Formats: sequence, C-alpha cells, structure tokens
Amino acid sequence: MPDTNKIYDCAIVGGGLAGLCLAIQLKKKGHSVILFEKNEYPFHKVCGEYISNESRQFLESLGLPLFEMNLPKIDQLGVSSVKGFMMVAPLKLGGFGVSRFTLDHRLSLIAKKAGVVIFENCKVFNVNETNYISEINTSLGKVQTRIVCGSYGKLSPVFMDKINKPAKQYIAVKYHVKLKFAENRIELHNFKNGYCGISKVDNETYCLCYLTTAKNLKDNNNNIKELEKNVLMKNLFLKKYFNEAEFLFKEPLTISQISFNKKSTNSSGIFLLGDAAGAIAPLCGNGMSMAMRASKILANLLDDFFKNKINKTRLLDSYKAEWNANFSTRIKAGYYLQQLFGKNTLTHLSLKFLSNKPKLLQKIISLTHGQTF
Ligand SMILES: Cc1cc2nc3c(=O)[nH]c(=O)nc-3n(C[C@H](O)[C@H](O)[C@H](O)COP(=O)(O)OP(=O)(O)OC[C@H]3O[C@@H](n4cnc5c(N)ncnc54)[C@H](O)[C@@H]3O)c2cc1C
Repeated sequence: MPDTNKIYDCAIVGGGLAGLCLAIQLKKKGHSVILFEKNEYPFHKVCGEYISNESRQFLESLGLPLFEMNLPKIDQLGVSSVKGFMMVAPLKLGGFGVSRFTLDHRLSLIAKKAGVVIFENCKVFNVNETNYISEINTSLGKVQTRIVCGSYGKLSPVFMDKINKPAKQYIAVKYHVKLKFAENRIELHNFKNGYCGISKVDNETYCLCYLTTAKNLKDNNNNIKELEKNVLMKNLFLKKYFNEAEFLFKEPLTISQISFNKKSTNSSGIFLLGDAAGAIAPLCGNGMSMAMRASKILANLLDDFFKNKINKTRLLDSYKAEWNANFSTRIKAGYYLQQLFGKNTLTHLSLKFLSNKPKLLQKIISLTHGQTF
C-alpha cells in the first residue's frame, strides 16, 4: 500500500517507456518518485518494436546495457504495395529491435533499483490536481504529490476523457513469430486501409504488427482471422509470411480505439508525455523515441522546478514550447506519410516514384528519425 502521509515530488500515471524513463531520470536527479502501472512487468504490448538509433545513447545513459543484449541492428527498409511492388532503401541512421516485454521490464528493474517506488497491478482512477499538493486515487489507495505526470499511453483514462475526442478509430494487432527473414531489415507491407510491419527483436523472434481502421475489422465480421485472410493476404508478401510463420502467442495481442488526434502537453496542470501527449501514426515517426525524448525534456524542466529555479507557470509554458519545437515537424511529416499508406493505387505509385528518387526518399526517412539526444 502507498504511504499516505508522504508527499512525493512526482507521481507518474503509466509505466510504459515515457513513464519509466521519466521516473529513472527524476530519481537520479534526487527527487522522490512514485509510478503506477496497471499491469505487472514483464508483459507484452502492441508495438512494432523497432527503435530508432537516436535513442540508443539515451537508453544506455539510463543504465540499459544495449551493447550486451545482442539485439538485431536494422539498417534496411522495404515497403511493399498491394500490387506487388517492393521499394527497398538503406536506413542511414537505422535502429534496433527489442520486444516491449524485455525493454519495459528491464527499465522497470532499473527504476526500482534507483529507488523509484513502483506500484504494479495498480490502476489510477482519479487525480485531484491543485497548484500545491495533488491527490491521486488508485486501486491500492491514495497518494499525495507535488507534480502529476500522465504517461498512460494512447487510451486516455476516464478521468482525462475530456481531452480525448477521437475522430477516425484504428485497431492494432501484434504477434511474435519465428520466420525466415533478414535480421537487418524492417518491412512495411501495405494492404487496404492499413499496413503491417515485420522486423526482428530479441530472443530470435520477429515482431509482426499491423494497424488498420476499426471499420476494416467491422467489415470482416469483427474477426481477425477473416480480416487477415480477406484483406492482409491480398498482399502476396504478407500472404507468404502469414503462411510460413510459426506464431508464438496463443491469441493475437490487440488494441482498439486508437486515434491519432492532436492532444496537449498538459491538462488541468497534469503534465502529459509519450502517447498521452499525442500519439502519431506508428512507423512514421518512431513513437517510442518521441516518448523517451519527451521524458528527457520534462525531467530537465521538472528538475529546475524542484530546485526552485522556475515556477509552475514557467514550467508548463517551457514544456509546451520545447515539445512543439522537438515534435511538431515530425508529427506533420508522420501525418502526411500516413496518407500515402494503405491505399492501393496511390501507395503503389508513390513507392514506384520514390524508388527512383533516392535523395527525396532519404529526406523523407530522415523526417521520421530525429537527432541523437
Ligand atoms: C501498431 C503500432 C505499432 C507501433 N510500432 C512502433 C515502432 O515500431 N517503433 C516505435 O518507436 N513506436 C511504435 N509505435 C508507437 C509506440 O508504441 C508508442 O509511441 C509508445 O509505446 C509510447 O510510449 P508511452 O510510454 O507513451 O505509452 P505506453 O508504452 O502505451 O505505456 C502506457 C502505460 O500506461 C499504463 N496505464 C494506462 N492507464 C493507466 C492507469 N489508469 N493507471 C495505471 N497505468 C495505466 C499502461 O498499462 C501502459 O503500460 C507503435 C504503435 C502502434 C499502435
């Protein structure tokens, strides 16, 4: 049970990448941190599990020994159209593959070792935010804190619902598979109203993960197998992989009600980061790297606040300004790229055009990968 008499410097709602990275940094800077995660580590999460190399140094600085983890290095991109064309390009900055099962678990252990108080299997129900001391109601009791950060991911909890008014809704499905597939390559395969990514992660396993509209699933009797057979497998590359792969999960891992609407860096004084501050189309902008980068920006500003170098108004304003400076171009690029995906003819023609324009293609790829931080 949380200590109800203690007032923490910072309480973090959600222990994915954004929340865990923020917790570790704040604790290392000497502040008291409590983090609530509704699941129990380790657990699987719907995600393509490709991390841009921009985050490599940052993760290592938190104490994650990536160099020892024998992770696949990914430096080649293949994108296919339903009509059977595959565009191939080098990924200059590149990235690596690691499952969220491993990554989030390892980070949670680093956080605990650093002294972050982590409550697992603990859902946050409500936050009463005030300018001074806020109260957090959780399934394990109440906690008091000076600052509240929301890193609860794509789905806003009910108590934050007022800022989540989704327009178009998406669903995502993920599998871990064994497959004969180049370990240095990430492939994105288009199908009607969606796309599917495949790349290697740890443990000699491949992540196969796709995103599509909720309508696409509905049109296939809300049946994932029918969706895959009737829609995804129209792309012959996907048909081959689905037929050849050995599927390791008993059931597919799914999430629904995903939307890519614009959100905000704070709501009623709660600082938002990661997908909670605005999810963008996956594989168009490296959401995990953006979540980690946002945690670094916020950790530095919160450190200034706790050391009384800036007040809360300045903290809120500076966070918003830095967030926009770092992410707004990337989010716009992700949005436009998303428009080119999942359309049979447009996607096909765009891929053919880009495969003859290597410089333009590299420019577009670079928009989805940031600088090292
Ligand atoms: C299909 C798909 C593929 C993707 N592929 C990639 C990829 O290959 N590379 C990449 O960089 N990005 C990818 N992304 C994006 C990436 O997954 C996200 O940007 C990233 O996970 C954001 O991290 P986060 O910490 O904000 O959220 P999350 O990792 O989702 O963490 C949020 C956490 O909060 C917890 N939580 C939620 N509500 C509560 C509550 N009320 N109380 C307590 N805990 C709570 C959840 O259990 C969860 O663990 C993909 C996204 C999708 C949908």
